Amino acid sequence: MVKVVVSFKFFDKWISFLKESGFEVVYWGSEYPPSKDWIKDNVRDAEGLLCSLVNRIDREVIDSAERLKVISTFSVGYDHIDVGYAKQKGIRIGYTPEVLTDATADLAFGLLLAAARRIAEGDRLIREGKWNKPWTPDFMLGSMVYGKTLGIVGMGRIGRALISRAKGFGMRVVYYSRHRKEVEAEYMSLEDLLRVSDFVIIAVDLNESTFHMVNEEFLRKMKRSAYLINISRGKVVDEEALVKALREGLIAGAALDVFEEEPLPQDSPLIGLQNVVLTPHLGSATTETREKMAETAVFNLIKGIRGEPMVYEV
Ligand code: NAP
Repeated sequence: MVKVVVSFKFFDKWISFLKESGFEVVYWGSEYPPSKDWIKDNVRDAEGLLCSLVNRIDREVIDSAERLKVISTFSVGYDHIDVGYAKQKGIRIGYTPEVLTDATADLAFGLLLAAARRIAEGDRLIREGKWNKPWTPDFMLGSMVYGKTLGIVGMGRIGRALISRAKGFGMRVVYYSRHRKEVEAEYMSLEDLLRVSDFVIIAVDLNESTFHMVNEEFLRKMKRSAYLINISRGKVVDEEALVKALREGLIAGAALDVFEEEPLPQDSPLIGLQNVVLTPHLGSATTETREKMAETAVFNLIKGIRGEPMVYEV
């Protein structure tokens, strides 16, 4: 029997599907990720590994796998896998782009609106029993979204999906990416984008060139009235620099779905700041999207083992 390892908490339905398809499935069912040793021990004689961003698939793990044909990740990001080394060893990598693009773009826009219009802050205020004064014209003023300028950093799949949403809000859309694209948005240098944008959404992938791309220098170039939204990966933002910028009023606010360390530590200074909206990595978290991601990841795994074209291969 061909052995596959599933190294994160997955859906029972798809575990059963793999078993019914004739695979021997070694499944890590806990929501707390397994140790590296557990993955190494179990992947030794497996042909397929189905993983997620909670698993670090480095050289050591890859070296311990003697028969591995495919690593299929339940994510579009693959910064948790040493892709170069895996490929060198002839291991194919499957991932789940496209199917989560719209859900993530929706969340980015939700965060943008929440930050600009102080939605989460207002909700907190009511729950904490602090809505105790009559209406006044200057109460909890936020920033207008309609008609403002959105700057998208990283014009990939999610970047593109943000354009139509922004157009619906009558926004001018500008972008910066490594390559110029045929899109309905104005291309400009990062410097110019930061100078003109009222909202900056980070939609790059995490790679060597984007690690701590949002640093003090980046934040200083933004308008003091602007908001930063990050739905990419936590390590793209230097969180210490962001906290400083939010405290000093270098920017008006931020909204973050991803963090340098996840779950976000309880003592993170971000938690004490009112001008930041925080969500726990919810980008692709819709029922419909997670089902499509599961199907894609499982079929990538099976097709990779069989030597067939995958649904999406890195
Ligand atoms: P994608 O299509 O690969 O887009 C990423 C874009 O980033 C690429 O188009 C690339 O630009 C650009 N980029 C990379 N390095 C850059 C740099 N140094 N400067 C400027 N642009 C750069 O990926 P996607 O599907 O849109 O997803 C983007 C990322 O979002 C994923 O990698 C993942 O980490 C994250 N994500 C998060 C969630 C969540 O739950 N919050 C959900 C889905 C995805 P060029 O094309 O110009 O080279």
